[in-house]
Amino acid sequence: MKRFIAFSGGVESTAMCLLYGKGATAVFTDTGSEHAEMYRRINRVENALVEIHGGDFRLIRLRASVTAKGEKVDSLTDYVDRMQFFPSGADRFCTSRFKIAPLDNFLKSEGESELLIGLNADETDREGNYGLLANVHYRYPLQEDGYTRQDCIDLLEQRGLKPDFPAYMRRGGCIFCPFKSKKEYAAMVHLAPEEIDLVRILEEKAQDKRGKYYRIRHNMPAMKDFIQIEKNNLFGDLTPYYDAGEEQYSCGVFCHR
Ligand code: SF4
Repeated sequence: MKRFIAFSGGVESTAMCLLYGKGATAVFTDTGSEHAEMYRRINRVENALVEIHGGDFRLIRLRASVTAKGEKVDSLTDYVDRMQFFPSGADRFCTSRFKIAPLDNFLKSEGESELLIGLNADETDREGNYGLLANVHYRYPLQEDGYTRQDCIDLLEQRGLKPDFPAYMRRGGCIFCPFKSKKEYAAMVHLAPEEIDLVRILEEKAQDKRGKYYRIRHNMPAMKDFIQIEKNNLFGDLTPYYDAGEEQYSCGVFCHR
């Protein structure tokens, strides 16, 4: 039976590739709007794991094809641009359309197969937000084998594969993830200026037909003002932004785990 691993670039999914990846295919669903650092990480992990598994490991990247106002788009950015609507905690179309649907479409044509999902042994009360296909056996090998998050981190540290994402990627591999905190957007101003500028442009283009200024986060200023405020804060204490610390869980099993 074919074995697939839901790969997001984060701790658990990388640990699964290490533990169960020989002969398997890891699948990364690319929203097309991921941070540059995420793409670098995927390439790095792929190269390392192909070597570790003696060439018997594959990592594939899938892109969605989604209709937005009558036109097919293959990136979350293009979708937001056409629909003039950002994903949010309440309407998380980014995950359903750009992470889960492409994976389901791919697996449907793969026959009898298993999909390994990266919930760890600390998370027995949590469920993955994936589709349920009759031809796919969904498995949680980290839970089956008792690997906690700390076990996964230890394993990755031994191999030099622990994610070391910048401070602005504590939540969300995508540049305008609704789960990012204000502090993370501030970190983007200082550490990823080209990416925060893309977010600003997208927010400004999403203003048509809206009575009041539409913000990515309602408790933040408009992105253009926020960027300026943060730039003026250049000589303030930036330490918190440079300390990525432990990544958070808020994005879900397909984003950044
Ligand atoms: S990282 Fe954030 S924006 Fe990207 S798919 Fe996941 S929840 Fe959505």
